[in-house]
Amino acid sequence: MDGFSSIADLAKLKEGEVKIRGWVYRQRGSDKFKFILIRDPTGVVQTIITKEEVNENVWETAGKLYIESSVIVKGKIKPDERAPGGVEIQVTGLEPVSIGEPYRLQKDFSTEFLLDQRHLWLRSQKMKQIMKVRHHLTIYLNEFFDNKGFYQVVPPIIVKNACEGGSQLFEMKYFNEKAYLSESGQMYGESLIFSLGKIYVWAPSFRAEKSRTVRHLAEYWHLEPEMAWYSHEDNMKLQEEMLEFVVQKLIKEHEDLLVALGRDVDVLRHVKGPFPRITYDQMVEKLQDLDVKFEWGQDPGADEEKALTADMKVPLIVEKYPAGMKAFYMRRDPKNPEYMLNDDMLAPEGHGEIIGGSERIWELDELLEAMKKAKLDPNDPSYSWYVDLRRFGAVPHSGFGLGMERLLKWVLNLDHIRDAIPYPRVINRVYP
Ligand code: ATP
Ligand code: MN
Repeated sequence: MDGFSSIADLAKLKEGEVKIRGWVYRQRGSDKFKFILIRDPTGVVQTIITKEEVNENVWETAGKLYIESSVIVKGKIKPDERAPGGVEIQVTGLEPVSIGEPYRLQKDFSTEFLLDQRHLWLRSQKMKQIMKVRHHLTIYLNEFFDNKGFYQVVPPIIVKNACEGGSQLFEMKYFNEKAYLSESGQMYGESLIFSLGKIYVWAPSFRAEKSRTVRHLAEYWHLEPEMAWYSHEDNMKLQEEMLEFVVQKLIKEHEDLLVALGRDVDVLRHVKGPFPRITYDQMVEKLQDLDVKFEWGQDPGADEEKALTADMKVPLIVEKYPAGMKAFYMRRDPKNPEYMLNDDMLAPEGHGEIIGGSERIWELDELLEAMKKAKLDPNDPSYSWYVDLRRFGAVPHSGFGLGMERLLKWVLNLDHIRDAIPYPRVINRVYP
């Protein structure tokens, strides 16, 4: 556009006059030379201003620039073996677009300060690269499901029902009644399989997580496939295929980004199905072998999950939890009704749960029974529609939920989930 080159393109050009636009990334100089690193979304390039060779105006302007000033630079490409793209620019013209103010992110890099200044910190190389990976994973997930004949659907965000139990709901005023921000789109997703067969909901979920952890957000992006006719077995296989597909494709197409972010790509290469599977009961035994305090009937938390997966390179599936331990809609194993046909997928390297899935109860009587146990009223209009789905041509079906930020945290081996999303929402922060 308008004859501007992107910085990534410079390497291909190798020589000639170019015009680029971007932001000052770093600068240094003497009374004879100035070296200004310019960044744009595609890369960083060094530009050199030689006092003797430019007009006074250019030299003066260069002296006024701050980190992050926006500029247009004209110059000649020079090959330089040490430079990242193999080239640098000998400046002939320099035009400030906005010099602005001295940049705020220069000395204080404390976590809290950077979170306060998130709108600026997003310009850092690290955050930029993470957001690029997020984009690519998003595209690959869509591609995976499209290839398999799934339809993407949207759920309502303002709801009346408490899908996952209700203790973590954000309440809101909806005109003259009480409503909630959705903590899962699953129940609505289930309703759509009767027309579309295989669907995936992809929307934000909201959970008032009251404790601070490195893997809980109050607002996260939730991918929730739901499939008619799929068994528990089919469900787990789909989860494996999905993770293998997106991770391997990311390595194939964007290994450079992974390397730039310091990710050990060779570890990720192991992510190929089938993944190891253990039952809940076997997990309890394993934890006891590992000397982790844990009792049958408890839901494993971060510490237990870490102990289970710290030395692993591929995800671990834990299936068949004791009946009633999780959400009311999970189907019991007809061969062993003390257990459910569900699974949690634990990411390797200690990252913990990234997926929760199950076969759903599809028979009316069974659902009514489960709701009674969970003290839910099947005639309450918040739930009656969901019960209805078992009255008109019910079919066996399964589904799961994947947290997008949990996926990124593992794939990029991030210390904290907040860096997987541009503007994290956690208990003590709703700004910027
Ligand atoms: P956890 O035990 O880690 O809190 P959960 O059992 O509450 O997870 P589910 O209700 O099964 O999780 O939700 C499905 C998926 O959504 C999880 O496997 C996870 O990837 C993601 N998820 C759940 N809660 C959060 C959260 N607060 N922030 C980010 N992702 C989440
Ligand atoms: Mn939770």
